[in-house]
Amino acid sequence: MVLVYAESPRGQLKKAAFEAVTFGKKLAEQLGQPCAAVVLGTTQSDPGELGRYGVSRVLHVADERFDILDSQAATQALAEVARQVGATTIVMSHTSTGKTLAGRLAVRLNAGLVSGVSGVASVESDGTLVVRKSVFSGKAMAEYAIVSPVKVLSLMGNAIRLEVSGQPVSAEVLTVSAPAPRIRVRAVRTVEGRVPLPEAEIVVSAGRGMKDPSNWGIVEELAEALGATTACSRPVADSHWRPHHEHVGQTGIAIRPNLYIAIGISGAIQHLAGVNNSKVIVVINKDPEAPFFKAADYGVVGDLFEVVPRLTEAIRKFKAAQ
Ligand SMILES: Cc1cc2nc3c(=O)[nH]c(=O)nc-3n(C[C@H](O)[C@H](O)[C@H](O)COP(=O)(O)OP(=O)(O)OC[C@H]3O[C@@H](n4cnc5c(N)ncnc54)[C@H](O)[C@@H]3O)c2cc1C
Repeated sequence: MVLVYAESPRGQLKKAAFEAVTFGKKLAEQLGQPCAAVVLGTTQSDPGELGRYGVSRVLHVADERFDILDSQAATQALAEVARQVGATTIVMSHTSTGKTLAGRLAVRLNAGLVSGVSGVASVESDGTLVVRKSVFSGKAMAEYAIVSPVKVLSLMGNAIRLEVSGQPVSAEVLTVSAPAPRIRVRAVRTVEGRVPLPEAEIVVSAGRGMKDPSNWGIVEELAEALGATTACSRPVADSHWRPHHEHVGQTGIAIRPNLYIAIGISGAIQHLAGVNNSKVIVVINKDPEAPFFKAADYGVVGDLFEVVPRLTEAIRKFKAAQ
C-alpha cells in the first residue's frame, strides 16, 4: 500500500497535497499496489476531494489536536495510520511540514528515506524502487535505490503535473492515539495574498539592479499582470529591501516554477542553485555578460526600468485581447 500524507494547512487542501496524491497514485500503479491518502486535523475542504487525483481511500484523522503542526504528535499519528493500513511506501510533500516530519517518520518506521524527490526512475524487477532527485545545487540528477522494506519519500513542489483521474470518495474517519502536545502555538502570522513561493507557477524576481526598494512598484505590477509571486536575490533581502521569505537560492528557498523572470539579478551560482530547476527562465539585465544569460531560455539585454514596464504593458494588452 502507498500512503500519501496530504497536508491541509489551516484546514485547506492545497496544490502540494494534490501533487503528492497524483504522484502517489502513479507510483502505486507502478508498484502494483493500492493507494490511500491521509489527512490530519479538522478541514474546511472535503478530504474526499482527493479521490479526484486517483486515490480510492481517504483516511481522515479529524482531530483538532493536529490543526497546528506538532511534529511529535503528527509523526506518531502518521506512523500509526501507516501501520493500521499496512503501508510500505509513505509519500509526503517536500514542504516545511514535510521536511519536519519525513525524517522522524522514517526513524519510527525503520524506513529508508529520500527527501526532495522529483520523480520515479524505475521499479526494478525485484520490486526495488529507484527515485530521482536533483543534487549539487541542481547541477546533477541522482538516482537512489531504496532497498528497505518500508520507504518514505518527500516530493518537490511543481515536480509533477496535476492529473484529475478519479471521483471524490467518502472519507473514512479514523482515530489515532497521539501524545499530549508539549508545545503550545500562541500565534501564527501568515503571508496573505499571493501563492506561496514553493507552489508558485510563475515567479517574478528582482535583484540589486533595482537600485532602491522604492523602485519595486514595476516588479509588483509585472507580477500582478502575470498572476505571479514575487521573489528576490539574497542581498536584496539582507538589505531589508524585501522580506526574507522572498529570498531564493542556495541559502533561501529552492523553487521550480514553470516560469522564472529574473530582473537585475547577475546570476551568481548561489542564486542559480535555488532557481535553475525552473522550466523556463527569462533574464532581463543590462549587462550582456551577466552570467544569468547562460542559464536563460530567453534573455533581454536592456535597462530594466525601460524593459519591465513595457513588458507589463504588453502582457496587459495581450490578456485584455483574450
Ligand atoms: C555562502 C553564500 C550563499 C549565498 N546564497 C545566496 C542565495 O541563496 N541567493 C542569492 O541570490 N544569493 C546568494 N548569495 C550571494 C550571491 O553570491 C550574489 O552575491 C547575489 O546573488 C547577487 O545578487 P544580485 O544579482 O541581486 O546583485 P548583483 O550581483 O549586484 O547584480 C545586479 C545585476 O543587476 C544588473 N543591473 C544593474 N542595473 C540594471 C538595470 N538598470 N537594468 C538591468 N540590469 C541591471 C547588473 O548588470 C547585475 O548583473 C550567496 C553568497 C554566498 C557566499
